[in-house]
Amino acid sequence: MSKILRVNLSDLKTNIEDLPKGYEGLGGRALTSTIVSKEVPPRTDPLGPENKLVFSAGILAGTTAPNNSRLSVGAKSPLTHTIKEANSGGAVAQKLMRLGLQAVVVEGRAKDLTSLKIDKDGVRLVPATSYRNLGNYQAIEKIRKELGDNIGVISIGPAGEWKLKAAAVAVTTPDFHIRVAARGGLGAVMGSKNLKAVMIDDAQSDQVEIKDKAGFREASTALSKGILSHPLIGIFKELGTSCLVMMMNAYGCLATKNYSLGQFSGAEKISGERMLELMKKRPNGQHVHRCMNGCIINCSNIFTGENGETIVSGLEYETIGLVGSNCMIDDIDIVAHINRVCNDVGVDTMDVGGAIGVAMEAGLLAWGDGKAALDLVKEIGKKTEKGLMIGNGCKFTGEKLGAKRIPHVKGQCLAAYDPRSLKGTGVTYATSPMGADHTCGNAIPNPANPSYNPSAATGQGPVSQFLQSYFAAIDSLGLCLFASLPLLDIPALQKHLVACVSAKLGSPLDENYLTQLGVSTLKVERKFNKAAGFTKKDDRLPKFFLEEKLPPSGNIFDVPEDEIDAVSLLP
Ligand code: SF4
Repeated sequence: MSKILRVNLSDLKTNIEDLPKGYEGLGGRALTSTIVSKEVPPRTDPLGPENKLVFSAGILAGTTAPNNSRLSVGAKSPLTHTIKEANSGGAVAQKLMRLGLQAVVVEGRAKDLTSLKIDKDGVRLVPATSYRNLGNYQAIEKIRKELGDNIGVISIGPAGEWKLKAAAVAVTTPDFHIRVAARGGLGAVMGSKNLKAVMIDDAQSDQVEIKDKAGFREASTALSKGILSHPLIGIFKELGTSCLVMMMNAYGCLATKNYSLGQFSGAEKISGERMLELMKKRPNGQHVHRCMNGCIINCSNIFTGENGETIVSGLEYETIGLVGSNCMIDDIDIVAHINRVCNDVGVDTMDVGGAIGVAMEAGLLAWGDGKAALDLVKEIGKKTEKGLMIGNGCKFTGEKLGAKRIPHVKGQCLAAYDPRSLKGTGVTYATSPMGADHTCGNAIPNPANPSYNPSAATGQGPVSQFLQSYFAAIDSLGLCLFASLPLLDIPALQKHLVACVSAKLGSPLDENYLTQLGVSTLKVERKFNKAAGFTKKDDRLPKFFLEEKLPPSGNIFDVPEDEIDAVSLLP
């Protein structure tokens, strides 16, 4: 039976307990949000000792179900002041589940920098002062040298230690690249607790318990087969998420020049197609890579330099959009280097990309000057005034520079999809309990559903609401978003997914299980935000999206407010 590990850093006590009533059968986002909502006072200081940082494996993590081992990280966010969940691939969720842990709840605040070690023999808190101010790459390498290759690591860089609002949580892949639970400043929450790293070794641990093994095998095989049958998967395999650069550019919604254009003249130079060409040519480059064992899609990559040195893995659409086109930077190598510096110092590339775009518009550096942007990002680690500004994200930077056009909702920078052409995504940005977050319900054009018009002014509320509940469920199971997309076009596959959960838990589940799980998760999150003081007035996009026409389409964001409010008020 899965358990919760509670770690109180104030008195250095740890305790492993059964999942309490109300938490059973939950995992991933559903569990992090339930714990935060029940145990964290909604108006508390996100960086104070009352906030709790929760790591939770998805319900199916550690099983043989495909792409199903994401790790959710949850807390009250210092960036948005809402409830927050950010999730990441990597090896950690599988290891936690093999050790019988559905979640780790970190409470209080240690007196000095501390790390947490979890293995078959138990739980230990160890001093981490020798890791102070180490970047994630160096810290992880040091931990790996000390503890060996079977370790999985959750860590923060200096930005987390310094509690910057865009600080992220890094998670290692099986081959020790970094994936990131990037959004919402959760790295700052980890830093506020003086927790540098969580190190998990699952050597000699048991397999994850499956109550109905035969049923699970059958459902899992059918699910894998169905996912692989979808035409989108071939594109993700070949180009990864960066396939979206040319697609979104063609659709006129690629975030460009701080969201003042929908198309970027340099898009081809930072496209997935260009990356593929480079990765095939450069030594050690890999355009096919997986962030977790059990992935059947391999959308990730290892982006290398001309001499074969690893720059970053994986280089993805959101980073390319926010750091590249949004800043008019058309040099994919510079974008990759900025990504590496962000991973190392431990900040969200999206909020930092948004911050650079705002700074360029304010005249702090020139549009398209990749070298200046890279130097600016390096300043985060040097703790200069400008570096600290950028490391605090897009809203902070915009306000400090007196900018009028700051692309954020509830403090979090938008993703690289302009909401004037993707209006369903715009409704999600506005109403998601997490601030502007595309992973909560991204309504992109879909060839399998040609009747859906993403730029129509009406009908977007119900689309966003449906997607928000679907992805809340997906984030709770631990299923990777890319593996979940085919299930939207082939609903029969959802039955196989639910059958996997049912076989794992050994209990029959309602045919509406996914909807129920998603809706109940959203309900918990919205209740927390309401108690934290948020109202429907906070569920709005910045005014410039409603007033400025987006070239070349001329679209504005004109979804009626009552349609947005209908989503806000729904559970
Ligand atoms: S498809 Fe991509 S994000 Fe999903 S599990 Fe595989 S490598 Fe990770």
